[in-house]
Amino acid sequence: MSHVLIIGAGGVGGVVTHKCAQVPEVFSKITLASRTEEKCKRIAAQIDRPIDTARVDADNVEETVALLKKLKPDLVINVALPYQDLPLMDACLEAGIDYLDTANYEPPETAKFEYKWQWAYQDRFKDKKLMALLGSGFDPGVTNVFTAWIAKHELDEIHELDIIDANAGSHGQPFATNFNPEINIREVTAKGRFWENGAWKETDPLSVRQSFDFPQGIGPMNIYLMYHEELESIVRFFPTIKRARFWMTFSDNYLKHLEVLQNVGMTRIDPVMFEGREIIPLQFLKALLPDPASLGPLTKGKTCIGCVARGIKDGKDKTVYVYNICDHEECYREVQSQAISYTTGVPAMIGGMMMLTRKWRGEGVFNMEQFDPDPFMDALNKHGLPWNVTTL
Ligand code: NDP
Repeated sequence: MSHVLIIGAGGVGGVVTHKCAQVPEVFSKITLASRTEEKCKRIAAQIDRPIDTARVDADNVEETVALLKKLKPDLVINVALPYQDLPLMDACLEAGIDYLDTANYEPPETAKFEYKWQWAYQDRFKDKKLMALLGSGFDPGVTNVFTAWIAKHELDEIHELDIIDANAGSHGQPFATNFNPEINIREVTAKGRFWENGAWKETDPLSVRQSFDFPQGIGPMNIYLMYHEELESIVRFFPTIKRARFWMTFSDNYLKHLEVLQNVGMTRIDPVMFEGREIIPLQFLKALLPDPASLGPLTKGKTCIGCVARGIKDGKDKTVYVYNICDHEECYREVQSQAISYTTGVPAMIGGMMMLTRKWRGEGVFNMEQFDPDPFMDALNKHGLPWNVTTL
């Protein structure tokens, strides 16, 4: 019986709240807090269990500590934005509460994600006998767990890893992002980066492309090499990996719009003067684009995210592919949200469940692949993200 405080009432926050509400034996009390309490109330009204709501500015450590001390939750699930990771970790340390998030810290002024800022909290969490679980979404999150599961059951050594994320769905809008536009566009327009023979190699944004034949009727799609944060922790915890890459699908239409927006400077994250005041072009663009939450009822089709791992089993070469397929419309029927938020929110709930039931427990700061993947993989099958494994 535990009290969970979910912070962030966006697309992912909605799914986490719905999914925690489906497991009352673990999450007996749920509070949803965000910068705009109205959004929390809207989500709470969709659920047939009482959900408490609160207003909090998670950038303000003092304000968050006061809320934590008042509510005394057992766990904070942070599904606000990556900028709030460090202030929320500080607040959890101060109030003595365990912490979980789905995306690693990014400084607002540079589009650069790295675990160093959050790994630096290791001793402080350990000294207070608290646990922080980092990156419990799908990618990062489930992709780390898939890798750990392959290392445990399928391969003696992983040598090459390709994480492949496909959104084969369509929302019918000329241009929109499936999750927070600012975070999404920062990620997509950053340089590509992959791990090869002990070093990071950089590529120009979206300059490396190949085709991948996705299973279960999705078929071939173009995939583009990008940098993604789970690569950093995976190559650290699985040192046999010689090459690790991350790939994502983009439609030609998405890329065409993105190129124009980039060319005219609308994706810039440095301040520019406009009519006597500073604005950040990407934040202005976010205000113009459709709210990702509004895409829920419009999106049709499927997502397919998984890991292709090549390595050695019993002295022989072997390649395995572990993946999940998720249907946008089914997600919307269940939790009033499309599959991108769903595939992030379900693992956030499961990570919370692993911590609160003590199946995953430790003192300090942890990445997902450091724990036994089996109970998490079982929970994925039970809570809406069933997975498949095939030998290629
Ligand atoms: P949204 O923009 O839809 O929602 C973010 C929410 O956080 C909003 O409700 C926003 O409030 C709230 N928020 C922002 N700043 C603050 C603050 N200072 N204090 C309190 N609340 C705040 O984003 P998503 O739901 O799409 O994404 C949530 C997180 O999930 C992001 O960190 C994203 O990177 C991560 N993610 C992870 C994935 C994975 O697979 N690991 C995949 C997709 C997303 P307001 O409405 O008032 O602005």
